[in-house]
Amino acid sequence: NPLQLQDPGLLKTGLFIDGQWLAADSGQTQSVNNPATRAAIAQVPYAGAAETEKAIQAAAKALPAWRAQTAEARAQLLQRWHALMLQHQEDLALLMSAEQGKPLAEARGEIAYAASYIEWFAEEARRVYGDIIPSPWGDKRILVTREPVGVCAAITPWNFPSAMITRKAAPALAAGCTLIIKPALQTPLSALAMAELAQRAGLPAGVLNVVCGAAREIGAALCASPVVRKLSFTGSTEVGRSLAAQCAPSLKKLSLELGGNAPFIVFDDADLDAAVQGAMASKFRNSGQTCVCANRLLVQAGVYEAFAAKLAQAMAQLQVGEGRQAGVTQGPLIDEPALLKVEALVADALARGASLLLGGKRHALGGSFYQPTLLTGVTPQMRLAKEEIFGPVAPLFRFETEVEAIAMANDSEFGLAAYFFSRDIGRVWRVAGAIQAGMVGINTGLISTAVAPFGGVKQSGMGREGSFLGIQEYVDSKYLCISES
Ligand code: ADP
Repeated sequence: NPLQLQDPGLLKTGLFIDGQWLAADSGQTQSVNNPATRAAIAQVPYAGAAETEKAIQAAAKALPAWRAQTAEARAQLLQRWHALMLQHQEDLALLMSAEQGKPLAEARGEIAYAASYIEWFAEEARRVYGDIIPSPWGDKRILVTREPVGVCAAITPWNFPSAMITRKAAPALAAGCTLIIKPALQTPLSALAMAELAQRAGLPAGVLNVVCGAAREIGAALCASPVVRKLSFTGSTEVGRSLAAQCAPSLKKLSLELGGNAPFIVFDDADLDAAVQGAMASKFRNSGQTCVCANRLLVQAGVYEAFAAKLAQAMAQLQVGEGRQAGVTQGPLIDEPALLKVEALVADALARGASLLLGGKRHALGGSFYQPTLLTGVTPQMRLAKEEIFGPVAPLFRFETEVEAIAMANDSEFGLAAYFFSRDIGRVWRVAGAIQAGMVGINTGLISTAVAPFGGVKQSGMGREGSFLGIQEYVDSKYLCISES
């Protein structure tokens, strides 16, 4: 029990298919590594198309009974799963911190956040209403019912190993769908532990399945299957596009939560201390590895120097280290490729004339640790302006007018989150309306909650997770035309 879990039974290392824990057909495994130490924590099966097909069959077999249950019965089951997640919060956080690297406090927070989606959709399960529409015919009635889409698939990333799963699994199960989950290669243990808890909560075999292994092969099998009626994906825009194309022949419903390039605008009239606090929360959560992290800090000329100085001061307080150590606020980047990308982006900015105020190097701790980094004088020509950084690098751009700030903010193929700080109520409405994004934080850097719709516009994807909208992604409308004759 090297992770010192209170309940070692939560360290699951099998595929979860039809209520059974299985090895890969080939016997092949892959190791799960702690990104802080690169040490192997566990071996999990490395599965492919054949195991995925088994999971699809299990989900199809479980579907009729699951969708026939009352919404209340499904809700009660989800409530039990929610309670178990909270009961085992500490163990789940330890597992997550070990495989993902995030500080333990953040991991605990994510478990609570992940569980909140289960609770929310347990409640929403009972509110999937239909409609009665006034008929244009005297002798016919028009009703619309909502039915579960059927067998669904979820492909999820490593940055939020639990929450990105519950956002999909909870509404799918609440709506009466069954599900196959393919978690990220780097973080299967969180997914498998949650499957174990779902089973303990009493979820029938086959309703929820987890397959880990060859991403491309499993993804291809899920996309090609005519049995799978919906795919929900969170990850990079590039992979999202490829999956959408692969789903075209079988015309699956799609939810895509893809990359972002969040602008974070600080106007001259902002409360600067609040803006710094917001920037710290938005930029450095999960060491900058979230799709809603501030990617471009746009600061108006009048407060540029003052904001930069205050931000540098706040950043100097960040504690870099292994997630399980007390006081640590910044874990490592997920892996070597992530580190290389951040290094390349910073090098590109410096070569094109940006200035380094803080950091700018690999951290002395080694591995994939990188120093919290502050760059000033960043311009739209630099790669940092166009690409998702996914690391602890804060690039400051300067602007003069509101019109210029809006143009800069919208000068991106992405449109996920945006943030701005202003105390001027007229400006708040103008900018909120002009900004091209699915989510806007105004005078705050933290916006995520299960009760609000999460999702993007432009190349950031389609569909919404959470809120009353989240469950709509897992139902089809069925129109019933009933003649009295
Ligand atoms: P990230 O940059 O967050 O790793 P990815 O889009 O590469 O984003 O990964 C998100 C999820 O998509 C992970 O579960 C990963 O294993 C999976 N994935 C990556 N490539 C493919 C692919 N070609 N087909 C299906 N899934 C993929």
